[in-house]
Amino acid sequence: MAIQLFDSLTREIRALRASHADGVFRFYNCGPTVYAPAHIGNFRTFVVNDVLRRLLELEFGADKVKHVRNLTDVDDRTIGQTQKEKRPLAEITQKWTDKFHADCAALNCLRPHAEPTATGYIKEQVNMIEVLMEKGNAYRAADGSVYFKIESFPGYGGLSRIRERELKITNAVADADHKDSVSDFALWKAYKPAEDGDVKWPGPRGASEGRPGWHIECSAMSKSLLGDTIDLHTGGVDLLFPHHENEIAQSACAHPHGDFAHYWLHNEMLQVEGKKMSKSLGNFFTVRDLLDQGIPGEVIRFVLLMTHYRSPMDWTAEKARQAEATLRKWRAATGSIEVSAPLPGVVEALADDLNTAGALAALHAAAGVGDWAGLKASAQLLGLLGPDTADWSWKKVEASFGTVFVAGEGDQDRFFALVKAFAEVWQARRAEKDYAAADQIKATAAQAGLELKAVPQGVMAEMRPDFDPAKLEAPQ
Ligand SMILES: [Zn+2]
Repeated sequence: MAIQLFDSLTREIRALRASHADGVFRFYNCGPTVYAPAHIGNFRTFVVNDVLRRLLELEFGADKVKHVRNLTDVDDRTIGQTQKEKRPLAEITQKWTDKFHADCAALNCLRPHAEPTATGYIKEQVNMIEVLMEKGNAYRAADGSVYFKIESFPGYGGLSRIRERELKITNAVADADHKDSVSDFALWKAYKPAEDGDVKWPGPRGASEGRPGWHIECSAMSKSLLGDTIDLHTGGVDLLFPHHENEIAQSACAHPHGDFAHYWLHNEMLQVEGKKMSKSLGNFFTVRDLLDQGIPGEVIRFVLLMTHYRSPMDWTAEKARQAEATLRKWRAATGSIEVSAPLPGVVEALADDLNTAGALAALHAAAGVGDWAGLKASAQLLGLLGPDTADWSWKKVEASFGTVFVAGEGDQDRFFALVKAFAEVWQARRAEKDYAAADQIKATAAQAGLELKAVPQGVMAEMRPDFDPAKLEAPQ
C-alpha cells in the first residue's frame, strides 16, 4: 500500500514517502490558539489529522511516525484575552490547553508525540529571526519590530499562488508605516505597554523587547523538533494563506539546504445546518456544548468523518442522529468480538487521499454481511469503537420534564424501567422543590449503587459496578 494524498503545494495527488534515512515520517500539524474553546470546525482539522496519523502508523510502523502539533500560546488573541480578564497569560493558556486536551480525549484523538508551546521556544524563534536579519531577509523597523522582506524571497506565493497585487491589498494593515513594503509581515512585534501588559521577551539583536509574530512560531518549533525538512505539514485551509505561505518563506530562507515540507495537506471548513458558523447566527458551538447535550464524542468524530476532508462539510443534527444510531448498532453487534485485520476496502479508501466517507461506506457494507471482526478492526483504524470510548453506550429517553440518561456497566435493558423511574421521580420532586423527598430518593438510589446527577439537559442515572437492583423498589 502507498498512501496517496492531494498535495496543496503541487496540487497533485502524490504517493507519500518518508524522506529521512531513519525511516521516521515527520509530520507537523498547526495546533490551536489557546485563548477560548475550540469550536467544532477546529476539531474537523484535528480529527482528520488523527485518522491520518493512524494510517501513517499502519503504513510506516507505529514507532516510525513523529507527529508534532503546537499550541499557540502567545499572539494577539491570547494577549487580548489576558488584558480582558486581567489574568496572567500562562493562567489563561493553561486553562484552555487543559480544556482542549479534554475535548481531544472525548473525540479519541491520539496525543501527538510532541506538543510544543510558542512560549517554550522563544529563544529558537529569536535565533531564527537573527539568521533572517543577517541574510538580508528581514529588517528592523523604526519601532523596533522586525519584518520579513517578501521581496527577498522569489518563491513567495508558491503555495497560495497569490499575485503581487492581491498580496498588497491583503497585507495592507495598520502598522504599514513601519514597513518597507505593505506586503511584509511581522517576525517580531515590539512591546506596546498599553496592549501587551507584561508579555514581553528580549528581542533579536538590534530589535526591541517584545514577542514573536505568529508565523515564526511554527517555523521555529518544527525546525527544533523535526529538523530542516519535514515530510508532511498540515492544517485547516484557512491557514494556507498567509500562515503557511509565510512559514515557507521563513524556513526556506533561514534553512535553504532543507526542503521545509515535502507535502502539504489542508482540510476544508465546516458549516452548520447549511450556514457559516457564527456567534451572531447562534449556530456557533464547541465540542463541550455538544458533549453537554448528551452527544457522545464518538458520534461527533463519526460525523466529522462522514465528509471527505477536501470538501466543505455541513454539521447537522440529523447526521448526529444517524451516526449515533449506527454506532449503537455496531457497538451492540461487535461487543466483545476479537478484532481481525482492518478490511482491505477500508484501508484502500483511506490510502486513496484519506477517503473517510468511502471507508465508512465499506464499514456499512461489512455490517451488511455481518463481518463484525473486520468491521471492528477497521473502525478502530478510524478511531471508532475503541475501548476508550466504550463508556458512552448509555440509553437516553425523552421524559416529559427533560431527558433521562442511563449509564453504567449494569444490564441496562433489564433494569432500564426501574432506573428510569428513579430518575424521573427524583427529577419531579426537585421540580416541585420538595428537596427533602428528592434527597431521600437520591440516598436510597445511592445505597443500591445508582448515582443520580442533574445535568443541563435532564438527569444522568449511572449504574455503578456495585449496582444491586434487589435493594431498590420502584419509588412512589
Ligand atoms: Zn502553524
